[in-house]
Amino acid sequence: MSRIHLAGMAALISAALTAAAHAQAPPFATTKVEGTDNVYIFRYGGHQAMFVVTPQGVIATDPISYLRPQAAKAYLDEIKKVTDKPIKYVIYSHHHFDHIAGGKPFKDAGARFVAHRNARTHLAELKYPDVVMPDETVDRRKTIKLGGTTLELHYVGRNHSDSALVMRLPKEKIIFTVDFIPLQALMFRNMPDSWPIEWEESLKKVLAMDWNRMITGHPGPGGRQMGTKDDVRAVLGYMQELSAEVKKAAGQGKCFDTAMKEIKLPKYESWNNYAQYLPGNIERYCMLWGRGS
Ligand SMILES: [Zn+2]
Repeated sequence: MSRIHLAGMAALISAALTAAAHAQAPPFATTKVEGTDNVYIFRYGGHQAMFVVTPQGVIATDPISYLRPQAAKAYLDEIKKVTDKPIKYVIYSHHHFDHIAGGKPFKDAGARFVAHRNARTHLAELKYPDVVMPDETVDRRKTIKLGGTTLELHYVGRNHSDSALVMRLPKEKIIFTVDFIPLQALMFRNMPDSWPIEWEESLKKVLAMDWNRMITGHPGPGGRQMGTKDDVRAVLGYMQELSAEVKKAAGQGKCFDTAMKEIKLPKYESWNNYAQYLPGNIERYCMLWGRGS
């Protein structure tokens, strides 16, 4: 059997396994975070959002309803199963549509929308009709207090976008971050919209914060919904190793196509999207080290 045939078969088997995993998981689920009174993860398909319930109302995050209004409806219904208090806030993790589109039912319920200042700038340019514009923006830091819960919003610089907020619950020592700290997963495709060097700095800032558990925007392998600082260190390690490999390849004139075919990082083979996105991740670093962009 030829190598190409084997690779094709491996891809088919991998696609079948992914489809099987998806078929097993219910379309959405709400999980109360262990050890907390009021912190929840709402998952719909492969996206996750955090919400916090207080005696004075709910702080929700990303609507995760891009091209699927039924997700926002399920999200609201799930919140209603836990509390009859109103939704006071919707906080956007960053400005990408797959996480923040579809918030209108939350707006109609009276929620105030909060996002980083750069998110509002991009959304104002893009004018995507199914995105609720933020009512309020964050520059470097903002603290939201509601019903005895404190939620800090931190901007740690440019990374997977220039609009990501780290949401930190200081009492619970939990953070919610989306897309710039994937949970045992490679970066999306060729890392569009990204700032690879500053990204590493933002990971170091997150590591310097006081927290124990991290809710992510997508579940990791095996459906894992939360990570630890070791997961952040692993992402930083991945970026540093990939960057060094591609920098070397760029110096040998291998960028783009040869580098994209030749570079392998077997240490990360078990991470989600390894085979699918490694060439794209290499491409992004080829742009950086081979073109300066
Ligand atoms: Zn994103």
